[in-house]
Amino acid sequence: MPQPIRLQHTQALDEPVESLRFVSSGRALALERLGIGNKRDLLEHYPRRYLDLSTVSSIQAAKIGETVTIVGRVGEVKLKKPKPRMTIVECSVIDSTGVIIGVWFKQPWIANRLKKGDRVSMSGKVEMNFGFKRMNSPFYEVLEAADRDPDSDDAYQGRVIAFHPLCEGINAAWMRRFVHEALEDCRYAIDPLPAQLRVSRGLVDRNAAWRGMHEPADMREQEEARRRLAYDELILLQLHFLLGRRQLEAGLEPQSQVIDGPLLSMAREQLPFTLTDEQEKALEQILADMAAPRIMERLLLGDVGTGKTVVAALAMIAAVDSGQQCAMMAPTAVLAGQYGNKIGPMLESVGIEWALLTSATPAATRDRILERLASGQLKVLMGTHALIQDDVLFSNLGLVVVDEQHRFGVDQRTKLRRKGKGSDYLAMTATPIPRSLALLLYGDLDCSTIHRRPGNSTPCKTVVLSSSERAVAYDAIREAVKQGRQAYIICPLVGVKSEQEEDEQGLLEARIEQGEDCSDPKAAQTEARFLASKVFPNMRVGLLTGRMSAADKDATMEQFRDGAIDVLVATTVVEVGVDVPNATVMMIEDADRCGISQLHQLRGRGGRGKYPGSVYLLAPSSQGKSKARLEALERTQDGFKLAEYDLESRKEGDILGSRQHGVPQLKLVNVLKDSQLAMEARQDAEELLERDPLLESPINGMLAIELERLRKRASDAAGE
Ligand code: ADP
Ligand code: MG
Repeated sequence: MPQPIRLQHTQALDEPVESLRFVSSGRALALERLGIGNKRDLLEHYPRRYLDLSTVSSIQAAKIGETVTIVGRVGEVKLKKPKPRMTIVECSVIDSTGVIIGVWFKQPWIANRLKKGDRVSMSGKVEMNFGFKRMNSPFYEVLEAADRDPDSDDAYQGRVIAFHPLCEGINAAWMRRFVHEALEDCRYAIDPLPAQLRVSRGLVDRNAAWRGMHEPADMREQEEARRRLAYDELILLQLHFLLGRRQLEAGLEPQSQVIDGPLLSMAREQLPFTLTDEQEKALEQILADMAAPRIMERLLLGDVGTGKTVVAALAMIAAVDSGQQCAMMAPTAVLAGQYGNKIGPMLESVGIEWALLTSATPAATRDRILERLASGQLKVLMGTHALIQDDVLFSNLGLVVVDEQHRFGVDQRTKLRRKGKGSDYLAMTATPIPRSLALLLYGDLDCSTIHRRPGNSTPCKTVVLSSSERAVAYDAIREAVKQGRQAYIICPLVGVKSEQEEDEQGLLEARIEQGEDCSDPKAAQTEARFLASKVFPNMRVGLLTGRMSAADKDATMEQFRDGAIDVLVATTVVEVGVDVPNATVMMIEDADRCGISQLHQLRGRGGRGKYPGSVYLLAPSSQGKSKARLEALERTQDGFKLAEYDLESRKEGDILGSRQHGVPQLKLVNVLKDSQLAMEARQDAEELLERDPLLESPINGMLAIELERLRKRASDAAGE
């Protein structure tokens, strides 16, 4: 194709939709509601579903009990109201071989969406009832409206029909037509992916891919197309991460730390155990980064109890060996305090001064801490957000450790890091995720992973119970306390009103997972009182809620740690990020409303001492999908396996929470299916930047432009 045409078609991508045939200003306005402004937007407006006509069954051939798709014309639509608050829509669909009836309960609006004479597809399980084949709540699409506008006849008549997301004022046929026109206008646009890369990864060219997404000849072609465009999303994301990292590092002064100093070797000798191979490897990777004249950007990934803390502590000691200071930030005061308890003694034993700073630290103490920090005498400062405040100044901050970094904003993390001239950065997370997902979420970090817990930890048994079987858990708690052990009862939702629950479907879960206390404090108190008086009358029952003051929380935790409380009723799950080896039983109410990973993290709190632990997960009824989810926890202790299982049952958007992470939107990538592709894209991005660090070579020019576009979109989205 001659160059001028290629250029013209490339430029066409950025032309407004009004320049397309059939797009009036009214329709352009409607498209804008879908975020579609130019032809490229249309091409990236990917179908949400496909109907492969080659798999359509005739009504006669549709077998009872099988799930099939049929296509036919609507005969009659009936809306029935057999009793108050119950509606049934029945719609007969006829093809040349017979009749089938679609039935929908409590969805009266469907009666208005289907009209006699419409050509529709219906997918569902075939049943036989009252002498007719029927489908209950089938999935349907209108392929051609009976009263269609003859102008809007489909330009495209393939064997596979694509269904695009629509909006008021644009029907499916119009949308297909607009997309078709955009495909035509841009069909010789230049492919931004360097040909060599495309060939080496066996990818189709971009124009073919766009065609294959919107007008595939068959589903194999669609999959090839999706793979190519998903690869584009992935490599751009990785370039974005890698270049972003370079930008962040520009202007910083990387330090090469000593990694064989006396304090580190002393601390290692004093450890009461030997590090596992995985801990050794993680530590080695961290120390290598620190020693190198570059900024460390590393994530230490591992389940609760896999021994990350000790690895982080040794890294901090290495920094102190090099005359530097360290900051360690945790999302809650309880967690920060726990780090103090675990790491503090280790630091003291090699003569390192440390302190804990939270918003609850008394002013006088705080002043002294800041003074010693500025003079460089204080080597390690642990704490919460309180570390970020402007007047917290280090004399020589060399290493920043951030626990559960996703609980902090990018700005907060950066602010802490900027307190050093070129401090190294170590993030930790106890949410195990597969490597491919780590690449998508934390692609700007290198990963060290610990899979296995050190050998000493006792196994913990997990049992799913229905609400009516609650007594089983209560008995286990009584038995444990009788033997001198302790128990947690976690009620993440106590007192949350049911309407609120329904309103915020999904949102509520997300908030709980972020560690928010969604419970009603009064109801939590009532629950604790009820448990104390009626269920465990001879035991000491304590209450911990997210809304208590930090001091009250600490006091309660301390009582629990000291054994002055037998049963701790807690609402905010994350506050229970505390290590109490004597607590062996955990009961989690409303477990079906919590994420798998979150439950897994929680149960890691049990069975940490020398006694075996047990965890009871309560769900309203022990049936259905939520039961299956919870049973995965019964079956395996492997957090990474569970994470994959969790991913399968979620949508990409939820997982990536793209805005929050400052990660550009991925439209086509499937975290599980594309894990291989994600790793290939990462490798390609690294190699590309190695050869052409600023993407200046003409061969990468188009890619650089695409990247610029994506970064702009990401920053616009973040700024919204
Ligand atoms: P994490 O920070 O990953 O949740 P921790 O560092 O708190 O895990 O370790 C959990 C427990 O295991 C702690 O009590 C710790 O002292 C202990 N531990 C850590 N590493 C080892 C090891 N290599 N061998 C034996 N015990 C270990
Ligand atoms: Mg360094």
